[in-house]
Amino acid sequence: MRRLAVVGAGAIGLYTAYEALKRGYEVDIYEASTSITRSPSARMPGLIVPIERPFSSFKNKLVMKGYKRHLKLSSELGYDIRFTRLILPYKRRILDHLMWIPRIYMKRYGIDIKILRGEKLFNRYPELNRLFIGGVEIHGFGIVDPPGIIISLERGVKELGGGIYLGYKVHPITPEKVINGVEYDHIVVAAGPHTREVVRNVITPPRQRFGKGIYAITSIYLDYIINHFTVTGWRYTRGYGYAPYYKGVGSIFGATFSWTPAKEDYMLDYELIREAIRRAPTLLREEPDILSVHSLPRVVNYPSNRWIIKVRDGVAATFGITTPGFTAAPAIAEYILDRFNMMDR
Ligand SMILES: Cc1cc2nc3c(=O)[nH]c(=O)nc-3n(C[C@H](O)[C@H](O)[C@H](O)COP(=O)(O)OP(=O)(O)OC[C@H]3O[C@@H](n4cnc5c(N)ncnc54)[C@H](O)[C@@H]3O)c2cc1C
Repeated sequence: MRRLAVVGAGAIGLYTAYEALKRGYEVDIYEASTSITRSPSARMPGLIVPIERPFSSFKNKLVMKGYKRHLKLSSELGYDIRFTRLILPYKRRILDHLMWIPRIYMKRYGIDIKILRGEKLFNRYPELNRLFIGGVEIHGFGIVDPPGIIISLERGVKELGGGIYLGYKVHPITPEKVINGVEYDHIVVAAGPHTREVVRNVITPPRQRFGKGIYAITSIYLDYIINHFTVTGWRYTRGYGYAPYYKGVGSIFGATFSWTPAKEDYMLDYELIREAIRRAPTLLREEPDILSVHSLPRVVNYPSNRWIIKVRDGVAATFGITTPGFTAAPAIAEYILDRFNMMDR
């Protein structure tokens, strides 16, 4: 029987472990934290479909495949996906560029995407800056309970006979592929978007740029943000169009700010972050469809939001898997295991 070690019990690690167990591997998971629900994966709110060019990119394919897998896995593992709609506002030029993409998505994946234009959009959101002349409305956007998913995955892994070592920090992986005195056929390092130390000896990690990032309130409803916060400006965020800023704290609908330029972070008022933490429980009670409240400093990783999955010498490592990495996680897991399969043949 092939033995697999998974380093990191975030979404990618857990889905990989779960899938590997189903394929007949013996699996051990090593997780540095003492609790499985502390990872960034346990903080993300939505299953997001990308609207990004080029349409046929490897990343887009992983996300779409992951999205579909979530639908299947949610019933298999017993977690809920609540469907709602996501509105992404765009400037005319960008919207026009985007027109062809929703059509392909609709056709290929059966996702209902509508273009909202001009007055229709303003009637609905009178506060909107005139730059917003159109929006893309996506039906079928999924909201999930992240810790719930992580816990059901943990349960699924244990039921299939997988071992989980909590609070076990794995140091650089050597070519011998030995962890905790156990020799493995394969190792998957899914220690988060920023990890490089863990694979240093086997895989040369890509160049990285570090900075600081921050999250505030994230809601898919534009109305919610407008009604609850004094939006002080709108800024363009690569990949997601315009986002309202609340005194310098960014908010975007179901998306994250992991690629916000680091210089903006230094302008942040930390008191607002504390306020967000204070208000979070009430907000979540009042508005069940708010996605989540994130108030944690985090690291910005790769320029151009590149996702890197390296597989070499029986070791797979993921780097820079930022949003929508959770959505793609089941597909990333399958991709890695398929590559191992090819190697073993
Ligand atoms: C606030 C926020 C909102 C987001 N929103 C969305 C969203 O709406 N939709 C979406 O699809 N994605 C979203 N994302 C992105 C998504 O969360 C990530 O892409 C995804 O969770 C990455 O999963 P992962 O398994 O690679 O890493 P992580 O979740 O970071 O897990 C890595 C794990 O590895 C462990 N670890 C680290 N080093 C070691 C070591 N040396 N030894 C052992 N264990 C180690 C860590 O403790 C951690 O538990 C969001 C992210 C954040 C932070």
